[in-house]
Amino acid sequence: MRRRLSVYALLIVCFAAATARAQDFSKVQMKATKVSGNIYMIEGAGGNIGVSAGADGLLIVDDQFAPLADKIRAALKEINPGQLRYVLNTHYHGDHTGSNPIFGKEATIIAHDNVRGRLATEQTVRGQKVPAAPKEALPVITFNQSVSIYFNGEEIRVVHFPSGHTDGDSIMFFTASNVVHMGDHFFAARFPFIDLEHGGSVEGLTRNVEAVIARVPADAKIIPGHGPLSTLDDLKLYRRMLAETTAHVRKGMAAGQTLDQLKAAGLPDEWKSWGTGFINTPAWIETIFNSLSKDGKK
Ligand SMILES: [Zn+2]
Repeated sequence: MRRRLSVYALLIVCFAAATARAQDFSKVQMKATKVSGNIYMIEGAGGNIGVSAGADGLLIVDDQFAPLADKIRAALKEINPGQLRYVLNTHYHGDHTGSNPIFGKEATIIAHDNVRGRLATEQTVRGQKVPAAPKEALPVITFNQSVSIYFNGEEIRVVHFPSGHTDGDSIMFFTASNVVHMGDHFFAARFPFIDLEHGGSVEGLTRNVEAVIARVPADAKIIPGHGPLSTLDDLKLYRRMLAETTAHVRKGMAAGQTLDQLKAAGLPDEWKSWGTGFINTPAWIETIFNSLSKDGKK
């Protein structure tokens, strides 16, 4: 029961944060950064947007919140006046798919099967009911494993990684520009939110991050779901954080410590600043605890 109560406390905090953010949309400014080759990153509110801009027009990865669609459009126009042709969604969460109903009217949305499945039906995310999205917001092309889009002179390889942040995440590899968009598999220098109720898993996410590290060149640029543009070294540090904090909690569980005891003890000092974002240190310990408990029962 105690565990349940603390989860609800977290939900309330998250909900309050989401509401506060919603009221601030008018003040949100888009910041575009050239990443490499054809690729740009736009930061605003919600998940970072990846942009491919060139002779074929525009392709974006994720589209933040609907009230920001006009600002996103203006930022895109400054990068390239071409037509928006494709929208790729890394996963179904509203801070990554919020402008789908607007951009879906002019561009083709592509995502994993489970993204369409979740958007098409009512979901409860962090205790908040999210209604089924309208038809224009749904991906029209879906895939189960991977899909390639040949656009602006390169192959954009979209690969599904199972049981990560959710059950429908994709990571996008811009193969010639040497850029990777990680979606919410990667929160830069912060503990990540992992959607355990919709197929996410701490160990699954860690495995997926390891697989990405193994396949990209050392000088690749990494766009995180949240946080600043990053390098492969940043992603490797994040991988070490995942492994070491998971091992820490696992050890405590094996010694018979309760969740409350683990939370009271905290994590090694090295990771202190990682708990200053959306997910604080106790929430991260709880995520690991719940994920390991769940996976152990399978
Ligand atoms: Zn997410």
